[in-house]
Amino acid sequence: MSNDNKSIHESDFELICAYYSSIDRQGPGSPEVTIQALNFIENLGEQSQIVDIGCGTGGQTMVLAQNTNAQITGLDLFPVFIDLLEKRAKALNLESRVKGIVASMDQLPFEKEQWDVIWSEGAIYNVGFEKGLNEWKPYLKKGGYIALTEVSWFTDERPDEINQFWLDAYPEIDTIPNKLEMMQKAGYQIIASFILPEYCWTDQFYIPQIEAQRIFLEKYRDNQVANELVDNQRHEATLYSKYKAYYGYVFYIGKKI
Ligand code: SAH
Repeated sequence: MSNDNKSIHESDFELICAYYSSIDRQGPGSPEVTIQALNFIENLGEQSQIVDIGCGTGGQTMVLAQNTNAQITGLDLFPVFIDLLEKRAKALNLESRVKGIVASMDQLPFEKEQWDVIWSEGAIYNVGFEKGLNEWKPYLKKGGYIALTEVSWFTDERPDEINQFWLDAYPEIDTIPNKLEMMQKAGYQIIASFILPEYCWTDQFYIPQIEAQRIFLEKYRDNQVANELVDNQRHEATLYSKYKAYYGYVFYIGKKI
């Protein structure tokens, strides 16, 4: 999801929810990549507690549930997404191990050292990478893991157009070494980091949106906000295909020490 939706009206939120509810994922990623990250996490059993912060409609939450025996909680700000997550869990017979909560990631309703794993794909930017790393840490057990995806620069220098786009959208975008340093400074041991392959953006995220956008615009043809939303998404997809050598999503996996 884009980062600039903080000051918009309630009805616009409904539109945004309608748009993102129509696609499987609300950010770049894939089941394979979620499993790849999960493979770095040791000692998960039936008693393990995993929270998926900013879970959206639960794309990666289901993958976590299908590939562990753990208890999984999906957390998102939007009730519509949590409803969809719960429906998805039920359809897959996972409802006994997958729960949803509506809450904000900057005011987490958790107890200290509650979680074995904090997961968050394409969502920590809403609170900011560094702030999220620091503020979420008390809720993680000692020896627990954090696994995040975050947009990152692949090079030290990049063309102005893409530099400006990201500085407006998310000024905290940074290079992989700088992100790793932040993680280490926040008190995590670095377990792994890897770049998400291109198909996580194209086949898994932008391409499914083409049909979703057509249906969405048919329904909200005369709505300015709907048109702007689609224009923004299309612009973002065009920029990605032009500048994908310079940025992308990176999985960062750390362990609380
Ligand atoms: N993890 C999902 C969704 C990523 S999009 C995926 O990869 O498909 C980012 C998600 O963060 C959205 O579902 C959005 O509703 C949620 N979000 C935004 N601000 C939030 C906040 N303050 N607290 C909790 N969730 C938030």
